[in-house]
Amino acid sequence: MARNANRRQERQGRLFDDSTRVEPILVSTCLLGIPCRWHGRRAKKRGELIERLKKRYVLVPICPEQLGGMPTPRTGEMLHGTGAQVLDEGLRIIAPENGQDVTRFHVDGARYALEIAEIVGAKRAYLKGGSPSCDREGVTGEVLTRGGVKVIRVG
Ligand code: SF4
Repeated sequence: MARNANRRQERQGRLFDDSTRVEPILVSTCLLGIPCRWHGRRAKKRGELIERLKKRYVLVPICPEQLGGMPTPRTGEMLHGTGAQVLDEGLRIIAPENGQDVTRFHVDGARYALEIAEIVGAKRAYLKGGSPSCDREGVTGEVLTRGGVKVIRVG
């Protein structure tokens, strides 16, 4: 009986051995060349940066706008302010094409991104600059920063 329990523990030890654990980081999915941007086309892959990051970290791709429930392709909006203003002051994000208020999608996506960071234990995020979600001053950038994740803007 005791021997079986020991074996089980040994097996679990092998399965969950974290001595070789590599630190996970979040990365904007589009930086990997995956076509998740609003226009549905591939963005330029940041090959050199990604190769450097892959040597040190496990990359966890996130696209907050897709996580928040937006389709691809989708409306392409600008943030006329900051993510902090969206979260604290009621600033709305409006799609210029059709006037739709898409704030909820951006906020939901940001929250799911933080949830993923917490699940995988990511303490850093490399996010694409110039996006209403992913920029360090975007909605996801702000939510991650508030959640203790260091956001690095990739311009
Ligand atoms: Fe890229 Fe972020 Fe925009 Fe998704 S939300 S397409 S990951 S910049």
